[in-house]
Amino acid sequence: MSSDSTLLERRFRVMGRNAPLFYDRPVHLVRGKGVWVEDADGRTYLDVYNNVPNVGHCHPHVVEAIARQAATLNLHTRYLHETVVRYAERLTATFDGSLNAATFTCSGTESNELALRMARYRTGGKGIIVSDFSYHGNSETLASVTTCFPVPEPFPAFARKVAIPDPFRDRQGRSDEELGDYFAAKVREAVRSLQADGIPIAALLIDPLFANEGLPELVPNYVAKAVGIVREAGGLFICDEVQAGFGRTGDAMWGHQLANVVPDIVSLGKPMGNGHPIGGVIAASDLIDSFGLAATYFNTFGGNPVSAAAATAVLDVIEQESLLENGRRVGAYVRAGLERLMAQHAIIGNVRGHGLFFGLELVEDDAARTPATAKTKRLVNMMRDRGILLSKIGRYDNILKMRPPMVFTEENADLLLSALDDALNAL
Ligand code: PMP
Repeated sequence: MSSDSTLLERRFRVMGRNAPLFYDRPVHLVRGKGVWVEDADGRTYLDVYNNVPNVGHCHPHVVEAIARQAATLNLHTRYLHETVVRYAERLTATFDGSLNAATFTCSGTESNELALRMARYRTGGKGIIVSDFSYHGNSETLASVTTCFPVPEPFPAFARKVAIPDPFRDRQGRSDEELGDYFAAKVREAVRSLQADGIPIAALLIDPLFANEGLPELVPNYVAKAVGIVREAGGLFICDEVQAGFGRTGDAMWGHQLANVVPDIVSLGKPMGNGHPIGGVIAASDLIDSFGLAATYFNTFGGNPVSAAAATAVLDVIEQESLLENGRRVGAYVRAGLERLMAQHAIIGNVRGHGLFFGLELVEDDAARTPATAKTKRLVNMMRDRGILLSKIGRYDNILKMRPPMVFTEENADLLLSALDDALNAL
């Protein structure tokens, strides 16, 4: 096997120098199990980053389901198949009764793109509102509304971006209610601005946890207020559950349940097949039916028998291993530990998160809250050297992002917390 530096050079040559990689010294992983991954030198790392292997790396139940179905039948999606239909029934049963039908895709991008097409079809509008500093996918439309990193496409005339309230930075004496009202007022302004340009609103597209935006604490009711304004203007609410879904919050299967609002359309991806590429769009059967008739949507690979078997196995494990309950319990344990670290390390300005999804905002000073961007980058690399994989997010790239597989235990949490303590001391 080639050394890591040779492999990196070969990757550069054949895949370009700018295909994203984590860390100053990229990690060369060769296998995984549960919350652990192993590199080419046999070194193990605790995975505190990945929600794609949602029920744990290479979970035997998922592996077995994929292998069994792959050995039986796999083909495109235009034949009847019991496993596919049964999965759609089981998945939709986890949503509010109004969200009773599913269309399958292969990625979060495809799900959001399809959701937008459905919203535009249903409303006759073209306008989209996204939150500022967001990401929803890599198709041309979704790339053009990406605001959390630069893209070549100009921000389109049919879209508006609205800054979400971050209680840590935007409080300025405002109550939760006032912060929520501020966001709702911005959404109203965006709707009116689109209308003034002759562009009726089709949809508000947001991640209910605002993960890419930095995972701010959620101010009660602000999503619901904004959704109310959009619906009043004839638009739909598309909830991007690509990061928030499949039990991540511990409290519920879906992130929007935390925001207490039922979306018109939900898009799914990442954790759905534990690494097997499957995504989905969930909506009312009436919308899926009428859009299907108008658009003849089909997706060759999306929700094929092997994908449906993988995704079914993911639901099995979530239920059989009580992973929501685990997310709640271990999540609270990690959160308490992070708060203890905050009391000991002045650089930690804020701890936030839900279930097994945490953000740790690092600041240079408590008063001005100057983002500790360079130190955050260093800390991520120092944690890698200590055998812990995590990353960073946010407008200032100063928020540690921790989102481990849902089988994370208290013992794993102790390892994470002591490595963090050690790295913060060494920073
Ligand atoms: N929505 C959100 C919130 C995401 O974070 C991502 C990927 N990071 C996507 C959509 C796109 O998903 P995919 O990469 O599977 O196309």
